Amino acid sequence: MAVHRTDPAAPAPPTIAFAGGTLDRAAHLRADGQAARLRQQGTSRAVLVGPDQQVALTAPRTLALVPPSQLPAGAHLTFLGLDRSGAARFAADALDLRTDSGDTFTPLRQLMAELDPAEAALAAYAVGMVGWHRVHRHCGRCGHATEIEEAGHRRHCPHCGLRHFPRTDPAITMLVQTGERCLLSRRHGAPANRWSALAGFVEPGETPEEAVVREAGEETGIKVIGVEYVTAQPWPFPSALMIGFWAFVAAAGGDAIPTPNPGELVEARWFGRTELASALQHGSIALPPPGTIGNFLISTWLAGAKPKTWAPVQKA
Ligand SMILES: [Zn+2]
Repeated sequence: MAVHRTDPAAPAPPTIAFAGGTLDRAAHLRADGQAARLRQQGTSRAVLVGPDQQVALTAPRTLALVPPSQLPAGAHLTFLGLDRSGAARFAADALDLRTDSGDTFTPLRQLMAELDPAEAALAAYAVGMVGWHRVHRHCGRCGHATEIEEAGHRRHCPHCGLRHFPRTDPAITMLVQTGERCLLSRRHGAPANRWSALAGFVEPGETPEEAVVREAGEETGIKVIGVEYVTAQPWPFPSALMIGFWAFVAAAGGDAIPTPNPGELVEARWFGRTELASALQHGSIALPPPGTIGNFLISTWLAGAKPKTWAPVQKA
């Protein structure tokens, strides 16, 4: 979703890294043989994924795009899609190549605000696919080795027949607000002065909206009565999709004092808009890094973004 700027002199709006990829995923080319033929084309390139969620760079802010002809012939490449010129893009697991590519690997998380947005999205896609392959080499039902199908978009167990598909775990993050105040928290393990929006994973049998209500209650005791979807962020560390919301409390709810769950939070409190802007200006507190959806939600609220149509969460 775009948050429209009303003041032309306002600073550039915050961005969401890894979203807005320009690749045509061309799923019709995943069938047997099609992607293998594309691999032979001179314009085809592969993103190399190193240990954890690292990607190969050729320059400090430039993703390495390696011709498949420079990779071992037997190396598996996952077909990602076609770029705007129609050239094929693949992902390769550098840990499988058994050759030293000579490339410099950097954690993708550090590159969020550095890479060109389309390259960041491509890298997130590659990291997500390679990470999924790494932990699905064996069948989750019978333990037999699985086989790769659909140009890397499916794994199949030849023993019990189970098919495994690339995994995305839905997670929610929400800025609870009363109009002029928002609820922020400090998490265990985060930098000492970093205040963030609340967040958590969607559980089985639950909608994202219901997860917002549950997580706000579990983490702070604050009762959310309505939500509005704002935007989402692919978060390949290792496989989440962060779904971002504004969340609202009843008129009297803004007086409620948050009670941080000590298992999850160090501290939680309401911040007034002016107070938060001032604290950020003086550097006494910090937000999540630019490029994260948490930074986006807080920054756009601070800049005056208003909810448009929020809906009550239906609970029987
Ligand atoms: Zn099996």
